Amino acid sequence: MKIHKTLKQEGRSLSFEFFVPRDGQGEAGLDKAIATLGKFQPTFVSITQQSSVPNSLESTKRVVIYIKDNTLLEPMPHLTCVEQNESQLRETLENYRALGIENILALRGDPYPKAGEFCPPAGGFRHAKSLVKLASSIGGFSVGVAVYPEGHTESPNLDMDMSYVKEKVDAGSDFAITQMFFQNSYFYDFMERVRSKNIKIPIIAGIMPAVPISRVKRFSQRCGVTLPENVARSMEQAGNSKEDAEKVAIELAIRQCEDLLHNGIRYFHFFTMNQSDVVVKILNNLSAITD
Ligand code: FAD
Repeated sequence: MKIHKTLKQEGRSLSFEFFVPRDGQGEAGLDKAIATLGKFQPTFVSITQQSSVPNSLESTKRVVIYIKDNTLLEPMPHLTCVEQNESQLRETLENYRALGIENILALRGDPYPKAGEFCPPAGGFRHAKSLVKLASSIGGFSVGVAVYPEGHTESPNLDMDMSYVKEKVDAGSDFAITQMFFQNSYFYDFMERVRSKNIKIPIIAGIMPAVPISRVKRFSQRCGVTLPENVARSMEQAGNSKEDAEKVAIELAIRQCEDLLHNGIRYFHFFTMNQSDVVVKILNNLSAITD
């Protein structure tokens, strides 16, 4: 199943991002997330490739194969340019294709922890568009890319940021998933810029439940994502109670999705952080997405 085709045919989608666990407790969380969130029959599930995870490529592949062999879900691996050069990336893509994987999220990737700025391996790619081009030239994949409603932190300005998105589309990407955002106006303004560049690929809204707030604050700061005053205040008012913080985060995510639905948005991707209970509680209140 090619994601871009399903998106266009169905006109709506629900999908989940899972991350690759680092220990036994994490494995249990992932198993639970696959089992519980799988019941919502998502269009696809995506599996991260993080340079902070030892043996990141093999770890991602292991989860992808597990999902493919043991569930009815459509797994989409994230593939980054951090560790592999062009010929290694080609081999990986051919290997994924041989495994029956039809969808790839083509990313430049986050640099190694503490590495500072991104530095490609010798013979590697500096930008995701080169990986998009490679995957498209190999063929057989629907190729997704990352986009940033508030602009990527390294982009000089929003116009240039959108020009680079256009380059990824021209290189062959056929759908995109946004970075998280907590203020929908950033997403609506981004969609205006998308339209002004005549970009026609489906754009999936990336939704991150704001819990635990300490991690979300850290992520937001690192990724240049605005955490609006009202969100931070509501979360802080919840105090140290995990239960109260979850309740607030769930309520905020429901309100965010309701507003998106009200404004005609139909493609939703949840950054689950493998916290399935929170995502289930959000989705149980959003029948327009799940029915
Ligand atoms: P690119 O599109 O290459 O952009 C990187 C920077 O280069 C941007 O500032 C862009 O404006 C600039 N740029 C692009 N083209 C040019 C050009 N021609 N000339 C000059 N500058 C240019 N990271 C991971 O490590 N693992 C993951 O699994 C992962 N999953 C993600 C999933 C989603 C949905 C999103 C939104 C992000 C994800 N990331 C992940 C984070 C992502 O890898 C980082 O944000 C990374 O810094 C940029 O990746 P990119 O693919 O957007 O890169």
